[in-house]
Amino acid sequence: MKILNYINGEYVEPLSDNWLENYNPSTGEVYAKIANSNAEDVENAYKAAKEAFPEWSNSTLEKRSRILIKIADLIEEQLVDLAQAEAKDNGKPLSLALSVDIPRASANFRFFANAITQFSSEAHESTGLNTMNFTLRQPLGVVGCISPWNLPLYLFTWKIAPAIAAGNTVVAKPSEVTPLTAFLLGEICTKAGLPKGVLNIVHGTGPTAGQAIVEHKHIKAISFTGGTKTGEHIARSAAPMFKKLSLELGGKNPNLIFADCDYNKMLETTVRSSFANQGQICLCGSRIFVEKSIFEKFKTDFVEKVKQLKVGNPFDADTNVGALVSKSHLEKVASYIEIAKKEGGKILYGGNKVTVKGFENGYYLEPTVIEVFDDKCRVNQEEIFGPVVTIMPFKTEEEVLNMANSVKYGLSATIWTTNINRTMRISKEIEAGIVWVNTWLNRDLRTPFGGVKDSGVGREGGFDALRFFTEAKNVCIKYE
Ligand code: NAD
Repeated sequence: MKILNYINGEYVEPLSDNWLENYNPSTGEVYAKIANSNAEDVENAYKAAKEAFPEWSNSTLEKRSRILIKIADLIEEQLVDLAQAEAKDNGKPLSLALSVDIPRASANFRFFANAITQFSSEAHESTGLNTMNFTLRQPLGVVGCISPWNLPLYLFTWKIAPAIAAGNTVVAKPSEVTPLTAFLLGEICTKAGLPKGVLNIVHGTGPTAGQAIVEHKHIKAISFTGGTKTGEHIARSAAPMFKKLSLELGGKNPNLIFADCDYNKMLETTVRSSFANQGQICLCGSRIFVEKSIFEKFKTDFVEKVKQLKVGNPFDADTNVGALVSKSHLEKVASYIEIAKKEGGKILYGGNKVTVKGFENGYYLEPTVIEVFDDKCRVNQEEIFGPVVTIMPFKTEEEVLNMANSVKYGLSATIWTTNINRTMRISKEIEAGIVWVNTWLNRDLRTPFGGVKDSGVGREGGFDALRFFTEAKNVCIKYE
């Protein structure tokens, strides 16, 4: 199987005839070749996008909205095929792709199909001066969207949908680790009647294809989700060109569990927030802080629940934890378990690679719970991005807030308490872009999504995304 670029509405081979190998993480086998595109392919994608821009940016909102809804419908119709492709390409449980990844990809298009019809600009009348100001919000032109491997179609479409809804045309690159569903999206867009060149999908590596998008002189904005180091590199390349940048980066999110919480709900959700998608969600709560009075009970109950998680082939209905995305990622995550041991951490559960019968070469790891005794240790400070969590007790609100804020990241935080005063105090003080109280991964797509500190710059979601993908122009009219 060949994963081809989608340029100007057609599937095309990379000009260099260079290919990468695409692995199935649950078996460790190569099952497809991926176009290894270079700057020339990106240039072709750009040209198609440039040509499509005048007509698309002048199309009616009704037309754009109708096409986006059609894309959403087609994704829904192909739910099972797309979910199977995602599970095969990423290693995630099929059940998760069916219930979360693909429905959310469809919801992204449906949401922005509606949002664009409600997006309006401001007017400021300067009373007494006979002037009227209004703001035009115009699409930027050709924009770049670059996404990671953990939620492949979900995050790819989270960028593309607002970009095209706002009237831009797009050059997009999915992760070379998980390109399959992005490849399938091309055909869906053609079927939905998206005009040629509005969305162009280029496959390939970050340093070559990705970098060519970032450095392209005429690509006006980059919406990027991925690692903090990559984000830093992209910012360095794009900032001198004065491109608009939205950077959604890494996280090391804290869970603050107080003794007065709804214990059972907390326990069940904390297992999910720790190990969903093998812990490979930027929003997973990987640092668990528990109030001292319930710490021992929590440790016992949590480990008991984690033991029940079944590590297995993504296609088994009862699999809770699938394969990690790649061999190199498995090795990276496993190396942190060794670091934890050297740092004096106590492995309460897990820590070992798993051999799954019939899938012996897949990249499986036990969900791992580590008790740490110093919140400054590396496993507690660095993003591991796998099925590994740390736990630690705390005595006071002040102490836990200090520990929660002690990392360089600031994406999300989860607080478990029934005390509304404490909820408000912590929500205001905690350094994070998203705070969940007594819930996790509860998303309303109208809300601003993004991080502070090294977790990123800018906000996606709702009108924030539409503002990012448009340029505001003030028009000031003096009348007599
Ligand atoms: P990554 O940074 O390695 O890659 C992300 C994308 O950037 C890929 O498409 C890659 O090919 C591309 N890329 C790499 N180098 C590039 C370059 N020089 N120029 C342009 N593009 C380049 O990240 P990953 O390993 O795919 O994803 C995991 C990371 O993503 C984790 O750190 C995770 O926290 C983060 N993430 C963040 C969010 C969020 O919303 N904040 C969501 C999901 C994942």
